[in-house]
Amino acid sequence: MNIHEYQAKQLLAKFGVAVPKGKVAYTPEEAVSVAGELGGPVYVVKSQIHAGGRGVGRFKGNEGGRGGVRVVKSIDEVAASAAQMLGYILVTKQTGPEGKEVKRLYIEDGCDIARELYLSFLIDRVTSRITVMASTEGGMEIEEVAAETPERIITVAIDPVTGLEPHHARSIAFGLGLEGKQVGSAVKFLQSLYRMFVELDASMVEVNPLVVTAAGEVLALDAKMNFDDNALFRHPDIAELRDENEEDPAELEAAKHELNYVKLDGSIGCMVNGAGLAMATMDIIKLYGGDPANFLDVGGGATKERVTAAFKLILSDPNVEGILVNIFGGIMRCDVIAEGVVAAARDVSLNVPLVVRLEGTNVDLGKKIMADSGLPIISAGNLGDAAEKIVKAVREAA
Ligand code: ADP
Ligand code: MG
Repeated sequence: MNIHEYQAKQLLAKFGVAVPKGKVAYTPEEAVSVAGELGGPVYVVKSQIHAGGRGVGRFKGNEGGRGGVRVVKSIDEVAASAAQMLGYILVTKQTGPEGKEVKRLYIEDGCDIARELYLSFLIDRVTSRITVMASTEGGMEIEEVAAETPERIITVAIDPVTGLEPHHARSIAFGLGLEGKQVGSAVKFLQSLYRMFVELDASMVEVNPLVVTAAGEVLALDAKMNFDDNALFRHPDIAELRDENEEDPAELEAAKHELNYVKLDGSIGCMVNGAGLAMATMDIIKLYGGDPANFLDVGGGATKERVTAAFKLILSDPNVEGILVNIFGGIMRCDVIAEGVVAAARDVSLNVPLVVRLEGTNVDLGKKIMADSGLPIISAGNLGDAAEKIVKAVREAA
């Protein structure tokens, strides 16, 4: 789960990580009142969307408006910028061409920047460790730095037994070229950030830029934070920070039914149990010349209700021209699954070809239920056969 910059900064502040002062605003009037409280002389008006690259982003249908992050020097300009951002669609490199509507702003103290650096904490799956990445190239996308000047990235993997130790923090600080009292500031910053990362079950925190101010302080000027969904039950206060406006409506609906759904660009909807089998199903569709419309793992205990919800979700995608159901009945019995598929196909008055491949416990009974249903379900014997049949059926229907 992702959260907004202002929410991430509130959490950072709570854990003792240095951030500039600021507050969220939902209207230009609120923006003005927050700016009044901050006192100036420099204010920053920042669009809050779940995407980076806001500073150099552009607003759709509001060509006069400059980027999604603006540094201004008067309260009048705060009001004007707020009015040019709220309710408009901001397009950045990370939003894609459709952009995202700005519904919240963050009004922040302007900061006297001496240097912009890069810092992130993430979980490296290769070493199974929280890994710190730091670079002198702040403000730039780290992917670009990694491609062009990888030697400018410092990477430190943290042993979970010892945690982030002062020597780790100092070596990162020196690697970033910090000196004097900046080193102490950076060490405190890094240790607090590490503690927050672990305590909140974060999966990624990116501070880009991390800045050194003219006065030598080390501050987080931007903050992007990501949490492990599987640990959210331990953090109800974090779960509440979810902004459903920022999420894909189909994926949101899927989450409500505990379905793992990821929308893709193809035309063949897939309903599979188990993530590995779902991946294999997408691969084999491609092998036979088709394109999967989604990844969908209905999980081990697929009930009739879940199967119906999954069907509706697949069909809510206007690109879907056929559905491939590929279920292995291990714990679940194939007859129960077949009943679910038949009921769901009737319930949604299915109007695209449907290929079902069932294997496992009570498979013969399952196949009989489908054959007796009178529905035009195409039964398949194995994975290859299933993929071939759905690709063919979709071509013929077109
Ligand atoms: P994004 O990464 O989405 O473009 P940032 O929060 O990183 O958004 O802001 C973009 C740039 O705006 C920063 O690199 C920095 O130069 C400037 N900026 C952001 N916040 C402040 C601030 N509080 N004071 C001064 N400049 C800022
Ligand atoms: Mg940034």
